[in-house]
Amino acid sequence: MTHRPVRVRIAPSPTGYFHLGGARTAIYNWLYARHTGGRFILRIEDTDRTRYHPEALDDLLESLRWLELDWDEGPEVGGDYGPYFQSERLPIYQEYARKLVQEGHAYYCYCSPERLAALREEQRKRKERIGYDRHCRYLTAAQRAEYEAQGIKPVVRLKIPDEGQITFHDVIRGEITVDVSTLDDLVLLKSDGYPTYHLANVIDDHLMEITHILRGDEWLSSVPRHLLIYQALGWEPPIMAHLPLLLDPSGKGKMSKRKPVVNGVEYPTLIRDFRKAGYLPEALFNFLALLGWSYDPENDLFTREQAIERFDITDVSPKPSVVSYEKLDWMNGVYIRQLPTEEFTRRAAPFIAEALGIAEEDVTGHAGLLAVMPDVQERVKKLSETAEWVDFVFKEPSEYDPKLLIGRKMTAAQSLEALRAARQILAELPEFAAEPMEAEMRALADRLGVKAGALFGILRIAVTGKKVAPPLFTSIVAVGRERTLARCDRAIGLLEELVAAESA
Ligand code: GLU
Repeated sequence: MTHRPVRVRIAPSPTGYFHLGGARTAIYNWLYARHTGGRFILRIEDTDRTRYHPEALDDLLESLRWLELDWDEGPEVGGDYGPYFQSERLPIYQEYARKLVQEGHAYYCYCSPERLAALREEQRKRKERIGYDRHCRYLTAAQRAEYEAQGIKPVVRLKIPDEGQITFHDVIRGEITVDVSTLDDLVLLKSDGYPTYHLANVIDDHLMEITHILRGDEWLSSVPRHLLIYQALGWEPPIMAHLPLLLDPSGKGKMSKRKPVVNGVEYPTLIRDFRKAGYLPEALFNFLALLGWSYDPENDLFTREQAIERFDITDVSPKPSVVSYEKLDWMNGVYIRQLPTEEFTRRAAPFIAEALGIAEEDVTGHAGLLAVMPDVQERVKKLSETAEWVDFVFKEPSEYDPKLLIGRKMTAAQSLEALRAARQILAELPEFAAEPMEAEMRALADRLGVKAGALFGILRIAVTGKKVAPPLFTSIVAVGRERTLARCDRAIGLLEELVAAESA
């Protein structure tokens, strides 16, 4: 057991956009660092140049910032164990590869890609285990000199012991034993001088004094190989913890990068897409933290601070965890409702602005908008759903069927009369506020002998152009007196045409 201060890391490869699985790993590492007062390190494993994706790094940093997972060492912030980009550490890996060869733990392999391909083909035909046949492990000095003379650039391979077992303890999975006969003499350094993932990962975890490795379960199968590298270098490996598998919403398959479809709706898997879809970072944080860990069996909702207080890797479950988007939507709705309305409006503003093609300042600076936002807040599960609830505040209602202006159980003429009277009230109301407005309208309905609901229906269409909108009178207040009257006039015009057509 180590008593060094906790140092954990995430080590993403910038090969694609940051994914929900990567975010869960980041959250657990971050929580563990914060829980123990340790350090959370970000290391960029960018040695695979063929799969390098130039936008991936920005996306990663943006996503981590959005989720408020601040890193103590790494890109932008530096630290005492840098560089934190593996591509800037090549001489280090080359030096250790050389040392491993010198000390007899590794060897140069000159086999051509063609030979390796033919070997694989042969093994396939004979139904043998596919793997390197250790041809170069037993070269004589003369043979080696001949390859060198031909100018062949070798790779460096690790010598896997001929027999035996490797047993290790994973904090989450328990004890695991692997027979070395299942392992290949893996490549440590490629012929171009770049390390493989295995070599660079082990060297950096050691040099960066990483105490605990928490990562996705897809790396579990690499552990025996890594342990042999640690052994060869005479280093003590960090404590290992491999997180449970994430299952897609059906619970049947592994979560992939493809967007899952639930009840006909396509859901995101990339953090940037969760953001665009209008999920709150604190809700996504809470949701992802639960994929393998539980805060309290009775209660799924918690703040970051609460999670920091309780999080421990020994409590992470080995059981695969189903990603339930329905639960995420529910949780996001809960978080939305918890926001102060001003804050909700501020966060919704970019979504409303984008959907309606207006400036964000026009949204945040709108005098009447705040009146309807408490109701919108009760109804939406995502920020992206806000625009459709408030568009009438900013834009004239689009074309609607004039017949919708005819009140329930009323004629066109009665509806016209009612709307004219309502307009007059709205024009003369001393204070343009929801409560006195509603009282006046109810009194009007009584005077006209119509149902209040029928009158309200007419007004709702006239002012919002929709049958379903936030509560009528706060909606009218949000639109403001002047524009409300103009919209009533337009509706009155439409009703007049209907009445004229009926009597013609
Ligand atoms: N570069 C690996 C990745 O992309 C790192 C895995 C690990 O944490 O060891 O996830």
